[in-house]
Amino acid sequence: MCVSPAHGEAFETEVPVAIIGGGACGLTAALTLRDAGIAALILEQDAAPAGSTTLSSGFIPACNTRWQRARDVQDDVALMAGDIQAKAKQLADPAIVDLCCQMSGPTLEWLAERHAIPFVLVEGFLYTGQRRARMHAMPERTGAALMARLLAAAEAAEVDILCGAEVVELFADGDGRISGVGYTRPDGSAERVGCQALVLACNGFGGNAEMVRRHIPEISSADYFGHAGNRGHAIRWGEALGVEIRHLGAYQGHASVAVPHGILITWAVMREGGIQVNSEGERFADESRGYSEHAVDVLRQPGGEVWNIYDGRIHTLALDFEDYRQAEAAGAVKQAEREAALAVALGLPEAALSATLSEVRSTARDPFGRDFSGIPALAPPYYAVKVGAALFHTQGGLAIDTSARVLRQGGGRLPNLFAGGGAACGVSGPEVWGYSSGNGLLTAVMLGRVAGESAAALVS
Ligand SMILES: Cc1cc2nc3c(=O)[nH]c(=O)nc-3n(C[C@H](O)[C@H](O)[C@H](O)COP(=O)(O)OP(=O)(O)OC[C@H]3O[C@@H](n4cnc5c(N)ncnc54)[C@H](O)[C@@H]3O)c2cc1C
Repeated sequence: MCVSPAHGEAFETEVPVAIIGGGACGLTAALTLRDAGIAALILEQDAAPAGSTTLSSGFIPACNTRWQRARDVQDDVALMAGDIQAKAKQLADPAIVDLCCQMSGPTLEWLAERHAIPFVLVEGFLYTGQRRARMHAMPERTGAALMARLLAAAEAAEVDILCGAEVVELFADGDGRISGVGYTRPDGSAERVGCQALVLACNGFGGNAEMVRRHIPEISSADYFGHAGNRGHAIRWGEALGVEIRHLGAYQGHASVAVPHGILITWAVMREGGIQVNSEGERFADESRGYSEHAVDVLRQPGGEVWNIYDGRIHTLALDFEDYRQAEAAGAVKQAEREAALAVALGLPEAALSATLSEVRSTARDPFGRDFSGIPALAPPYYAVKVGAALFHTQGGLAIDTSARVLRQGGGRLPNLFAGGGAACGVSGPEVWGYSSGNGLLTAVMLGRVAGESAAALVS
């Protein structure tokens, strides 16, 4: 893993634009370049591109879309940017937030119209801090379905993807101009390719335990649910190139992964009135804040495990989600007709659980500050899933400008290096509480689009 000096050496092969990583960011950048008539080569370390994109739910926030208009959802860039910044306590780069929001509608419509990606609007509930229904997903509501569609589009557009190519080396001159990359093949051989521009689409450092311990120790004891191959290459290259690196303490945690099944239980369960209790039958934080910051509170509970408790209405809503159906089929979802039976089924102290449920049902002020007004009170039969916390992906990374061009420490930008998705600094501010649902794929797809456009302009 290094940056080596470029001494004007010739590369065996040359491409106009090389892209490291074949997830949502890399594929969107490559499709953009192909539409501009420019050949791009994706270098992907795995035998088949998957990335965290495949593991995700595939929900992408976007405003001003035709899917929103069809459902009379009034949304715009100012509202969307305001929601993202409110969650990030105004600490995300406003220019990048605005850019992603402005790009969001046109980019999803371009993917649908030009590349046959069939988005639908996710309706029925709102994620924390989102004032409008703006999550767009595949009809299957899975990242695997999104990735399959992106790969099919890439194949139709004749994007070159070289799999089994782990990039380990960048070649750069003294000004930081990238002239090519070196990569290893599964048989251990080393190859190189020259490029006029390089896009870093190789995500963050969630798969690098040492970097997680160093930058985000508070979540280091949680399981990592993202792609294991995302080991912080972009950040380490950025450090070697003297790039400005921001917000390494930011990440997407999740407070609701079924134990021991490892299946995501949608946070819609909490948004609709569900609660979390620890092994003492007690709540411990305001579940309505967001699943990311709540993950840290879950980790602090005895054993790092808690119970999601909700009712039949919420169970029915959750059945819309493929993950939840899988969790139910795997036996993760418990059901009980009465509070006493629920306490027995979950192994919780009956008096404490009963007191917790009564408190939630009462109109008294919630000790954690959650507002239950406007949400139907939990009613039997009850449902429950044992869950733990997880790290999904990191949000800090290389600072970029509004053309996705990587910035130097102390000002200025590198001549031909671009970054997007988890490789770039995201729009979540410096810490876990700033993650707004969808910030991951928002920056992967929109910054992939911007990086593709900018790289195309540079090499044309
Ligand atoms: C369980 C889960 C659910 C999620 N749900 C959502 C959601 O619904 N909405 C949302 O917005 N976000 C979600 N996220 C976050 C989202 O998945 C990521 O933010 C997004 O996929 C990042 O896209 P990417 O293209 O940057 O990275 P990836 O999709 O991870 O792609 C990066 C690629 O780079 C490759 N790579 C890495 N290093 C190298 C190298 N040196 N050489 C060659 N290849 C390399 C990797 O193999 C990988 O294929 C979720 C994450 C998880 C884990």
